[in-house]
Amino acid sequence: MAISKKIQGFLGSSSWIRKMFEEGVSLKNQYGAANVFDFSLGNPNLEPPLRFKELLRLVAGKDIPGMHGYMPNAGYPETRSAVASCLRKEHGVLSLSAEHIIMTCGAGGALNVILKTLLDPGDEVIIPAPFFVEYRFYVDNSGGITKLVKTKEDFSLDLGEIDITFTEKTKVVLINSPNNPTGKVYGEATIRELTALIEEKSRLYRKDIYLISDEPYRDIVYDGVKVPSIMSACKNSVIASSYSKSLSLAGERIGFIAVNPEMADAVEVVNGMILCNRMLGFVNAPALMQRIVSGMQGERVDVEEYRRKRDMLCDGLSSFGYRFTRPEGAFYLFVRAPIEDDIEFVRALQRRKILTVPGSGFEGAGYFRIAYCVDDATIINAMEGFRQTLKEYLKF
Ligand code: PLP
Repeated sequence: MAISKKIQGFLGSSSWIRKMFEEGVSLKNQYGAANVFDFSLGNPNLEPPLRFKELLRLVAGKDIPGMHGYMPNAGYPETRSAVASCLRKEHGVLSLSAEHIIMTCGAGGALNVILKTLLDPGDEVIIPAPFFVEYRFYVDNSGGITKLVKTKEDFSLDLGEIDITFTEKTKVVLINSPNNPTGKVYGEATIRELTALIEEKSRLYRKDIYLISDEPYRDIVYDGVKVPSIMSACKNSVIASSYSKSLSLAGERIGFIAVNPEMADAVEVVNGMILCNRMLGFVNAPALMQRIVSGMQGERVDVEEYRRKRDMLCDGLSSFGYRFTRPEGAFYLFVRAPIEDDIEFVRALQRRKILTVPGSGFEGAGYFRIAYCVDDATIINAMEGFRQTLKEYLKF
């Protein structure tokens, strides 16, 4: 066998999301795209704001010497400065400056750089579940050990469970809010309590433990919900984020890391991250995209569109009898399957050409995920299939 045993294992257990997406491609070839209702992938269906195209044309037409060449590994100083200035306002952390920002290849790139910088082999990373499954690979990439902690019934953090999961090997707590796959947003009190717990454990084990907040969905929240600032709550915090969802630029691979300036070792941590951006082979974030996002700070896609889709989907599904917690952010709905075996239920939906992802794929067995970043017709035309599939199972 050419590939490593580890990758063989990962291939076997790798993402359900990709699996469903690939099965979707073959169903679409067979039945035509309009007859397949694909809710499998979190690929935003909204186009980037108009300003993106304007800036793209403007930047592409410029004649700046070296504009397609290498640059400092952390990114262009003016881009880092623009990001810092936006975050300073958002988080109210006045000492945050360009030196605390590293431009990355998306949030995925950001997380790999952060973990590579912080983890020694065997260090443990506490992650609330259900969770974005790629985290497992990212932690493993840096020799870390993933320690999952179940969330409560409403997907809020179970701080009691997190408390007993800490060991002397814990180095990182990794949270994601608004959450994929549940749409949950952790409130201010929760973040404060989590910070107190991390600080207590840091004292107990006489070591620094870090809070990483993965927040690519920060701007996608509904009904006036606020995502609290991790930076103003927790000194040892690092933000991983991107423009993949907020500006619908997922394919352009542009994101950033923000290191809390209040962290005692902030300079050393940033230097380590800059080196890791290079060591991991990213070298630097895409040049053209850095120039563009510099001019788009504070902008976002029309979140109201996602809110409308959420409501259309939630209202329809609840009228049939599906059970779920209405998402407060992101564009995923995590629905309770009417039977224990979520994979069987997802297969039943698939027979009606509805593609979703089993909760087991996110360590959330008994549920399935619907990504509603799709056009309205997909939601409307899938409704009858959702209704009939549930009816089939409620008979028993
Ligand atoms: N984190 C979460 C929770 C995600 O859902 C995703 C993508 O879906 C990522 C990180 C990766 O984002 P990016 O495309 O910016 O690398």
